[in-house]
Amino acid sequence: MDLVGNTPLVRLGSLSEPNGPLVLAKVEYLNPGGSVKDRIAIRMVEAAERSGELKPGGTIVEPTSGNTGVGLAMVAQRKGYKCIFVCPDKVSEDKRNVLKAYGAQVVVCPTAVPPEHPDSYYNVSDRLVTETEGAWKPNQYANAENPASHYYSTGPELWRQTEGRITHFVAGIGTGGTISGTGRYLKEVSEGRVKIVGADPEGSVYSGGTGRPYLVEGVGEDFWPETYDRDVCDEIIAISDADSFITTRELAERESLLVGGSCGMAVAAARELAGRCGPDDVIVVLLPDGGRAYLTKVFNDAWMSSYGFLPAEASTATVGDVL
Ligand code: PMP
Repeated sequence: MDLVGNTPLVRLGSLSEPNGPLVLAKVEYLNPGGSVKDRIAIRMVEAAERSGELKPGGTIVEPTSGNTGVGLAMVAQRKGYKCIFVCPDKVSEDKRNVLKAYGAQVVVCPTAVPPEHPDSYYNVSDRLVTETEGAWKPNQYANAENPASHYYSTGPELWRQTEGRITHFVAGIGTGGTISGTGRYLKEVSEGRVKIVGADPEGSVYSGGTGRPYLVEGVGEDFWPETYDRDVCDEIIAISDADSFITTRELAERESLLVGGSCGMAVAAARELAGRCGPDDVIVVLLPDGGRAYLTKVFNDAWMSSYGFLPAEASTATVGDVL
């Protein structure tokens, strides 16, 4: 757990233009659980230990199948807690197996039932909390320790690593924890000089959408979570799925950064911002996770072509590729 945080900053040479800003990436897949969510997992668990909500030998119950689950499973294993994760049946078996590998139990719920159905994802996780002795639900969408983890770790790291030269911080918004906590710290320490720029999938509420579906994972919402501080962003840039995924592939091809789709989205926003910045500016863009969880999607030509994200002639899809 001591390896969580203090991730490196890497210069994105492919975004550097003569007389343009310095663009740096905060590479969060180098956390031991593979994502930025390791930070919130430790802080939420340790706060619950202090408040007495999570007792020795207790059980962490959370509806998640993604990065937060991995972070929580890793922390739970180290600290001797049990974990039950609830996920919809559309979540890939590979993702479920990652959680099980750390010793977590995974409960799968049908996607094709309305939220009020007793077997729905929401109802099953609530029921497990009441029925399991010693259960505690972190609730990353409402837990103040989520943004606090970034206020106390990600923000100070960026200030120290750039020696106070950072002028813009760019991050995608899911729960809003990353941008709210990091952004608030950077604004305070720079007395308002650092500009905070959110990146959001087209269709999500943060950029004025209605929650219309998009394919990029881990970011965008159809509601306003408590963990998002509406006062912190100076600007929000909406990015299409196509731009997010093409930029994700470019990060692997041009920067050797094999990262997830929300990273491409954030970098696409940083690129747009960089076009308006000058040589004295230092933009930091946060890359939340690695690309290995997305090999059958973003990095699969047939999948990309099936949504029209690749020009037909560039596709190397062959019959039998998994879509
Ligand atoms: N990208 C990915 C892949 C994520 O899993 C998350 C977390 N939902 C985010 C971005 C957004 O981070 P946050 O929840 O802190 O806004």
